[in-house]
Amino acid sequence: MIDDLRRNFPDLKITLDRPYRELTTLGVGGALPVLAEPVSPEELGALLKYLRKRGIPFFILGGGSNLVGADAPYLGAGIRLERRAFGGMERDGELIRAGARASLPELAAFAAKAGLHGLAALAGIPGSLGGAIRMNASCRGTAIGELVEELEGVDFRGRPWRAKGSELKWEYRTGGVPEDVVVTGATLRLAPGDVEAELAALEAEHAKRRETEPAGRSAGCVFRNVSPEEPAGKLIDSCGLRGTRIGGVAVSEKHANYIVNASGNASEREFLTVARLVRRTVKERFGHELRPEVRFISKASERQLVEDRAELPPAAAKRNRVLLLVCLYMYQILSLLAGSALLIVGWMFARQSDGIGVLAIAYGILLLVGFVINLCRKW
Ligand SMILES: Cc1cc2nc3c(=O)[nH]c(=O)nc-3n(C[C@H](O)[C@H](O)[C@H](O)COP(=O)(O)OP(=O)(O)OC[C@H]3O[C@@H](n4cnc5c(N)ncnc54)[C@H](O)[C@@H]3O)c2cc1C
Repeated sequence: MIDDLRRNFPDLKITLDRPYRELTTLGVGGALPVLAEPVSPEELGALLKYLRKRGIPFFILGGGSNLVGADAPYLGAGIRLERRAFGGMERDGELIRAGARASLPELAAFAAKAGLHGLAALAGIPGSLGGAIRMNASCRGTAIGELVEELEGVDFRGRPWRAKGSELKWEYRTGGVPEDVVVTGATLRLAPGDVEAELAALEAEHAKRRETEPAGRSAGCVFRNVSPEEPAGKLIDSCGLRGTRIGGVAVSEKHANYIVNASGNASEREFLTVARLVRRTVKERFGHELRPEVRFISKASERQLVEDRAELPPAAAKRNRVLLLVCLYMYQILSLLAGSALLIVGWMFARQSDGIGVLAIAYGILLLVGFVINLCRKW
């Protein structure tokens, strides 16, 4: 895949085996085998089209502050907008136009220095503008969706996409942007403010975060609040789970909805084990099924958390894989034997000009074609 990608996109920045500790704030998991960073909407569009056409899986990475890395290698590519190309910001009266890779704290500082009001509450959210829009990031009553005037992006077919903020349905932790769109830039509408007051509001926001937020590596709140009256953190705390640690991962002592990579090199499996314990305990105690706010790179892990499926022990998983392979090989051998036998029998009957002979030959050929196709496929 890499050689073909490089041949087709000679200018695309491609890096290999990037550890998730470099790409995400939580830092659990192994490494991302392929990271592609397009420098223009056109290159992004062509890349998306290329990957889709070949059935190569991909996911979009922003600042990585809401993502859980995977232990297993991702069998596809991560796409992240190149920082310099998509990180710009400019002011036009009360509007700020910024690239989707612009960092939210930097954007809030830019607005404050320009004497524009509205972004200070979001100044401590450590993600990119694109990620914030996807998640409709919010804090202290301000959600990014309320500020969006217009959005630009590219859909997974490679076509340009645009929308007015008012046309989209912004909800708690979901922006109205379709799942098959990569946001490339946004125009935010702010209100006139006073530079000194805005800078003071920024400083107050950072101070508040230092006071209430755990230091160290996390992806922020792991679970969505059940309701404003029942924040997930309060429920988790009431279950006495603060400080619970399994391997390198722990429920934060400071904020129970933060699950932190306490050792700095924890695995996705450890994170999942703690998150599942939290979810199960809250369900047993309060009957609420907490929904994750964080997103997993491995969709299998996300399902495991949400469906609370028992994880197979490694030995059992290996036994199942071996059993499946044995079945597939047996099917192949049977296809080969039955296909050949039908061809021979069919040929004998066909010589006596019998219709059954032709039918047997046709079935025989079908089985043998199936055999060859399976042989060429990677199991
Ligand atoms: C310490 C800490 C505090 C936090 N506090 C808050 C808080 O107060 N409020 C809050 O809402 N969140 C908070 N978060 C969570 C997180 O910062 C936000 O969800 C943030 O908006 C995610 O942005 P990101 O760029 O890091 O996205 P990522 O984590 O990289 O990705 C998140 C999702 O967005 C998608 N995505 C990323 N970029 C794009 C794009 N350009 N186009 C389309 N989809 C894209 C990804 O595919 C993924 O599904 C916190 C996180 C941390 C670590």
